[in-house]
Amino acid sequence: MINIAIDGPSGAGKSSLAGFIAKELSFVHVDTGALYRAVGYYVVCNKADPSDPESVVPLLDSLKVDVEYDGTKKQHVFINGKEVSEELRTNDVSMAASAASAIPEVREFLLDLQRNIAEKENIIMDGRDVGTVILPNADIKFFLSASPEKRADRRVKEYEAKGIDISYEKVLEDIIQRDKNDSTRKISPLKQAEDAIPVDNSDMTEEETKRFILDIIKEKLL
Ligand code: C5P
Repeated sequence: MINIAIDGPSGAGKSSLAGFIAKELSFVHVDTGALYRAVGYYVVCNKADPSDPESVVPLLDSLKVDVEYDGTKKQHVFINGKEVSEELRTNDVSMAASAASAIPEVREFLLDLQRNIAEKENIIMDGRDVGTVILPNADIKFFLSASPEKRADRRVKEYEAKGIDISYEKVLEDIIQRDKNDSTRKISPLKQAEDAIPVDNSDMTEEETKRFILDIIKEKLL
């Protein structure tokens, strides 16, 4: 099976890029952030503190996260059999996911799910530790980044398109906080794999980024 890894900070455009590549190549797009968001959402629903292992870890016993891929290769996430894909996209769930993802038991809980999908399908998987921890032998690895300001700007536009009212300052502050959480946590921090191709898309349009990455993949794999 062919495995492509895309890691990078929040809001760099990993997810929409991976979705595009998946469609072009008929691969499955595994959005690992959504799995952490599922845990974050479950923690929030249960009114637990996402940064407190003592309140999060016991909840994992009653949590089952599943994914399915439809005909367009879009990922659907289920918590205990109920689809929650849409509920996962809020800022509160992002922050809860970010806090909970630093808990080793949470990462362990999601590890097999991620590796099992990669074994069965040609995939493009986006996350923070795909190239370093989840799929160290991935065929191609990218590390996608952009300045915090550019990423906040893009996120605000996404929220606006969905009718979610949130200020640029708040989004920027949360992005900086999440970058800090993700890159300073002890376990599986956000880090560029040594053999990853770095792509800073601060000054590239979404379309340019997509074409740039697709060309590299085609050159290397096809
Ligand atoms: O990518 P997304 O913003 O949806 O991820 C939500 C949160 O889940 C991130 O802030 C990060 O803390 C965590 N995450 C992670 N490892 C991954 C994917 C996401 O820790 N592979």
